[in-house]
Amino acid sequence: MDGLALPTMSNVKETVGLTSHMTENAFAPVSDANPNVCLANYSLSIGQEFADVDTCRKTLKDIAIALHFEIRIVKSDRSRFIAKCSKEGCPWRVHVAKCPGVPTFTIRTLHGEHTCEGVQNLHHQQASVGWVARSVESRVKDNPQYKPKEILQDIRDQHGVAVSYMQAWRGKERSMAALHGTYEEGYKLIPAYCEQIKKTNPGSIASVVATGQDNSFQRLFVSYRAAIYGFINACRPLLELDRVQLKGKYLGILFCASAVDANDALFPLAIAIVDVESDENWMWFMSELRKLLGVNTDSMPRLTILSERTTGMVQAVETHFPNAFHGFCLRFISENFRDTFKNSKLVNIFWNAVYALTTVEFENKISEMVQISQEVLSWFHHFDPQLWAVAYFEGVRYGHFTIAVTEILYDWALECHELPIVQMMEHIRHQLTSWFNDRRHMAMRWTSILALPPKSGLQKQLQMLAVIKYSGQMKLNLKSCLVKGQTL
Ligand SMILES: [Zn+2]
Repeated sequence: MDGLALPTMSNVKETVGLTSHMTENAFAPVSDANPNVCLANYSLSIGQEFADVDTCRKTLKDIAIALHFEIRIVKSDRSRFIAKCSKEGCPWRVHVAKCPGVPTFTIRTLHGEHTCEGVQNLHHQQASVGWVARSVESRVKDNPQYKPKEILQDIRDQHGVAVSYMQAWRGKERSMAALHGTYEEGYKLIPAYCEQIKKTNPGSIASVVATGQDNSFQRLFVSYRAAIYGFINACRPLLELDRVQLKGKYLGILFCASAVDANDALFPLAIAIVDVESDENWMWFMSELRKLLGVNTDSMPRLTILSERTTGMVQAVETHFPNAFHGFCLRFISENFRDTFKNSKLVNIFWNAVYALTTVEFENKISEMVQISQEVLSWFHHFDPQLWAVAYFEGVRYGHFTIAVTEILYDWALECHELPIVQMMEHIRHQLTSWFNDRRHMAMRWTSILALPPKSGLQKQLQMLAVIKYSGQMKLNLKSCLVKGQTL
């Protein structure tokens, strides 16, 4: 506790003039348990100065709440601030006046003794939304997920004051706005934000689309140069496509197209926020993606795109990436199968069918399923095996059957849903920068030109290949080796 001079209760009584008939409990600050609160902050004395009238008002409010009495403001204008204890007959009163020529205010007169019993319940007139906002600001800054329910409980524990859920909610909103600006201000900043991205990170794409007479926000698309360059030069031609609903005040949907890097980690290529999930917005997203890749994909092997294949996604991929193999995410397809048939035996055979390496093996599995339920045939008709079964899928999945980007999108939605749009994009950018930087450091420690983290499965596979190749049994092309579905 060195350097933090906590006065004893008797000192506090002297400085604020508590009368002897009051019990210590009645006015004892309930924040005793909090070592960050210095009781000396609650003392008042003649000649004491405040930077301005606003600071004076806030300080008196804090003192009233901490010492459990309510104040009534008698006068508050440019030159003076006069407040008294709100209890009838209590002489406590303070008169603060502006010093000439400077914004400073100083206490001129102080009747610092209460004869009242103070506030005897948990409600306090000075515990306004503004006070709640100030009280929680540092915690909201550290944790934007700080919930109104937690706020009202913490305020009760720390200050002995009850605030309503609505007050806590509004207090947090105000605090968030003070820290990050409001949601509404955030949307207005988007055009300037896009310009900054392009200016400070040349080669990046950042565009915003507004709509209607009121020019309201419709779409934002961002792809950083590092991601574009990395995808074109160092990633396999595979993209995962997904979206997540945002839960912020203005909702919206977060779209993402993510590649997978040489070490099998997700490598988000493009991010968009759109007002709704619609066919039109998917068409626009894939069109922007096509534009940014431009002619660069011409020399790449054919692209494989994995997604849930909603109608909007399918149309957009077919329009802008007509040569790409667009397969189903196996998690989606298997969950659909499981939920449709609710039969664990069928599901087991289904998985065998998924991984069957030949069409004959696949057809055998289908026959097994049909013996259990004829209805699987219509399901298979609806979900064409060419879009998901290893034996039929013509594209190369590079060992990726389910899309992993979904999880990242859910994390971002959860971490950012309290933030205005620009802060949300900045949170995502920080995360991408941090990932890319960590990976760069990791890759610099590798000694091979291939991404070969120690003890990786890839390393073992390569050793195995070397043995086979050495024995002269097979001629292998590194890019299309091993069995189908396990291509490097
Ligand atoms: Zn009083």
